[in-house]
Amino acid sequence: MRKVLAVDIDDVLAGSTDAIRKIANNKTGHNLTLEHYKVSGPYWGYYEHVMISNGIKSKATHQEVIDEWTQTHHISEPITGAIDALKVLSDRYKIILITARDPKIREDTEEWLQKHFSGMYDDLHVIGNFKVVDKPKTKGEICKQIGASWLIDDNPEHCMTAMAHGIDTILFGEYGWHFDAPEHLERCRNWQEVLEYFDGR
Ligand SMILES: [Mg+2]
Repeated sequence: MRKVLAVDIDDVLAGSTDAIRKIANNKTGHNLTLEHYKVSGPYWGYYEHVMISNGIKSKATHQEVIDEWTQTHHISEPITGAIDALKVLSDRYKIILITARDPKIREDTEEWLQKHFSGMYDDLHVIGNFKVVDKPKTKGEICKQIGASWLIDDNPEHCMTAMAHGIDTILFGEYGWHFDAPEHLERCRNWQEVLEYFDGR
């Protein structure tokens, strides 16, 4: 039986931060670059943090940016290397996608996945997060429930909840919210490194 590999969507398969960056620029006339999103800050509230430190201080604008993003997920580009890597990995593992997106946007999410990752995953869990769901399950709990051996996620918190259930995790990417992430987390900066991690396993 194929082992289960759980994979996050935002900033792992989908270039969500980049989409948010573009929306923020369009809305405010600023020209925030990728480098502006490489500063240290906590995961929750990270985009607000970047906007505030670059002079975009209006809470209403922050909300508009996030709202526009939730309504326009289809504009996100796949992360570099994600499609090729998931093709390879889905031959060897059962791929189950787990996202903390709002369950209300499940359909949009599925549409986007079908467009870019069709046939490369076995199931999708849209679990929500504390902002949109009362007491959402943790990714660790879902990983345990589905019998995952690994979780690939850019959010250190999700990696930690999975590790608490004995699941191996990979902190994916090089994001601003990784600066203060626990040192002991296994990290892969990109999909090439993920493939190398799974090589020979
Ligand atoms: Mg994510």
